Amino acid sequence: LMQLSIPLNFIGFVYREIRQGLTDIEQMFDLLDVRAEVTDRPDAKILTVEKGNVRFENVRFSYDPERPILKGISFEIPAGRTVAVVGPSGAGKSTISRLLFRFYDAQNGEITIDGQNVKDVTQESLRAAIGMVPQDTVLFNDTIAYNIRYGRPDASDEEVRSAAEMAQIGPFIESLPEGYGTMVGERGLKLSGGEKQRVAIARTILKAPPILLLDEATSALDTHTEQEIQAALDTVSRGRTTLVIAHRLSTVINADEIIVLKGGEIAERGRHPDLLAAGGLYAEMWSRQREATEAEERLRKARETD
Ligand code: ADP
Ligand code: MG
Repeated sequence: LMQLSIPLNFIGFVYREIRQGLTDIEQMFDLLDVRAEVTDRPDAKILTVEKGNVRFENVRFSYDPERPILKGISFEIPAGRTVAVVGPSGAGKSTISRLLFRFYDAQNGEITIDGQNVKDVTQESLRAAIGMVPQDTVLFNDTIAYNIRYGRPDASDEEVRSAAEMAQIGPFIESLPEGYGTMVGERGLKLSGGEKQRVAIARTILKAPPILLLDEATSALDTHTEQEIQAALDTVSRGRTTLVIAHRLSTVINADEIIVLKGGEIAERGRHPDLLAAGGLYAEMWSRQREATEAEERLRKARETD
């Protein structure tokens, strides 16, 4: 029986690996049809990240030649710093993260990590260096521990627990009758959006990649839950090169640079106080969102007192 169960477990493991690959791509990019477009060069090198400096240099990109999406974008995320990209929906924000992850190749310009063009390195080494917290996390039909440990399969139980603590989901997991052994996913315990998000953050904390990509990682949450999770995200991104794509501007106040993207161009850039003082598009987005947040808070308080 022992001899039989080992290969079966192994097949299960391989199957989950493959399924995870697909799940990641589906959930993050919805781009199953384009994966074949980008391939490793025959002489592709392993990406070596020493500092984690990310640069976009005059990057132009369109999905369809008739319609340019990014019209010559340049910015740099110095190693360990945080750059935020904000702007109206359809502005091309997620496209920037897809290009960094190399789901597509830019038609012009260069994207480099520590001077290495993402086109010249293996996709495997590129993706190993980048941790992604997506908008919607799909969990595997497995235990919570498995779902967190996926970030680094050789992590100890203690490391899994400490990642969960940092992601502010430890006490919740411990309150479950089967704790870390609780089955989750479609056939197990259904977690809320915020709980799933925190599992994804714990996974990324465990992976500890040099570069982080947070694409509207908290946009599905209400303002209250978002604030709790923001603290966990701040912890993960400390000392790591981080690109935050944000819907809610409250999450980018502390970014080293905020890039306001509009119609595929950088409309404004700077730090939060400077952009507010400039009284342009960012300032306008800020005041509109503050009104919406205040209305949401009033509604929540009114419900609580009912
Ligand atoms: P944002 O994240 O700022 O909302 P995206 O980068 O996702 O915007 O998309 C920018 C533009 O590119 C949008 O107009 C979108 O419809 C278009 N787009 C996104 N993905 C594709 C695709 N696979 N094929 C064609 N157009 C796309
Ligand atoms: Mg987007």
